[in-house]
Amino acid sequence: MQRLTHWIDGAASAPRGDRWLPVDDPATGASFAEVAAGDADDVEAAVDAAARAAPGWAALPNSERARWLERLAAMLETRRDVFAHAESRDAGKPFALVRDVEIPRAVANLRFFAHAATQFASESHHGEAGLNYTLRPPLGVVATISPWNLPLYLLTWKIAPALAAGNAVVAKPSEVTPHSATLLGELSGEIGLPPGVLNIVHGAGTAVGEPLIDDPRVRAVSFTGSTAVGRRIGARAGALLKKVSLELGGKNATLVFADSDWEAHIDTLLRSAFQNSGQICLCGSRILVERSIATAFRERFVAEALALRVGDPMDTDARMGPLVSRVHFDRVMAALQRARDEGGRVLCGGHALERPGWFVAPTVIDSLGPDTATNREEIFGPIVTLQAFEDEDEALALANAGDYGLAASLWTRDLARAHRLAARLRAGMVWINTWMMRDLRTPFGGSGQSGLGREGGLDAMRFFTEPKNIGLSLE
Ligand code: NAD
Repeated sequence: MQRLTHWIDGAASAPRGDRWLPVDDPATGASFAEVAAGDADDVEAAVDAAARAAPGWAALPNSERARWLERLAAMLETRRDVFAHAESRDAGKPFALVRDVEIPRAVANLRFFAHAATQFASESHHGEAGLNYTLRPPLGVVATISPWNLPLYLLTWKIAPALAAGNAVVAKPSEVTPHSATLLGELSGEIGLPPGVLNIVHGAGTAVGEPLIDDPRVRAVSFTGSTAVGRRIGARAGALLKKVSLELGGKNATLVFADSDWEAHIDTLLRSAFQNSGQICLCGSRILVERSIATAFRERFVAEALALRVGDPMDTDARMGPLVSRVHFDRVMAALQRARDEGGRVLCGGHALERPGWFVAPTVIDSLGPDTATNREEIFGPIVTLQAFEDEDEALALANAGDYGLAASLWTRDLARAHRLAARLRAGMVWINTWMMRDLRTPFGGSGQSGLGREGGLDAMRFFTEPKNIGLSLE
């Protein structure tokens, strides 16, 4: 059985405690590999290596760090299929989706922040009190903690700006999907990245994540994952007064107005509900439809959901694969039961597929109000609800009900309404007549229970620096 080790100080590194966790194939339910079950000793070795590497890395010209990131991107591009296989197997994602969308996006992350490094500049303030200028040196050693739903994409989304800004990184990927991170560590070795600049420590959240946050040499923690874990990490990092960025869960609304081209966009609407089996923080899980088209929309959407091919990740016709793990499958099945108990009417799906692995059919539910747990709590599976609204005010009230504030999509041809509502929706990101259209320069993140801070572009570069103002008198 394949064993996935840490990557520490420029080399593969077995867990010091010689403990391993199984890695399961979501399409069969069988274990196919083992990953290092790291502990505080592994974390210490990784932070030691990062602390040794940090000054040299920070001292490089930005253009030199950019060249390293560019090399990593170019090498990743040549290994696209290898990474896609690894990630598709770990996470149960359709192979074509990983190869054609997610790995290229990881490459784009590395390239984008390579360019960002060459463009990064700080501010000066003049004309009020002497001359002030800001320095933005890197923090030193930083930690990233990432989830299983977009393993390589979210790992690179964090390590690229951290490295570009001049930090050494200790990354803790999800123990559920460790494969592509292991390969990325090896790739960094192949291109000769200086040892210690990028370290990857595998293992469970508490065993690896907590000592990593606690290590006094780690100056910032960038976390993406669930709200429950984010709250714990925020409290832990807060007690130590460390910088922390939290990208958490969502319960996003999709608002469909009668005047929209919803039929022409049905494929995007479907993707926004079911891509990656609904396991994307940006998926719209509450579809709000103007009452005059509610019946027509429901009939068409349910027909499309029924026609969605769910199947083996290697089946090129499959649009949806299984859920990521047994634990998550059980959670989603419990959420389905709860929806029924709350009086939800299951219009399609609502069951697991009768085959090995953790497949759940695309599910559409209606007859549930905004105060039900089904409409308030993140499920993170292929389950959406439909609610009808009368007018803009009701649409807005429904969309803003709940504690999350990550993303929303808004479908209308009325330009004034689109802008009016976009400004009033409680969401960090609003798409109008599209979904998940990404420009990496824009601020990414949410409010309320969806997190703290923003990633992307300058926000990410600045997060990984410590600004220092220098003022001088011109008298
Ligand atoms: P999770 O919170 O269970 O785990 C995320 C990471 O945190 C994993 O690496 C895990 O090992 C680690 N972890 C767990 N407990 C920890 C602890 N006590 N201390 C330190 N680290 C710990 O999340 P998940 O189930 O892997 O991912 C799904 C969640 O991620 C969903 O809620 C989803 O909405 C969210 N997500 C958010 C975004 C965003 O950008 N807002 C993007 C993707 C996923």
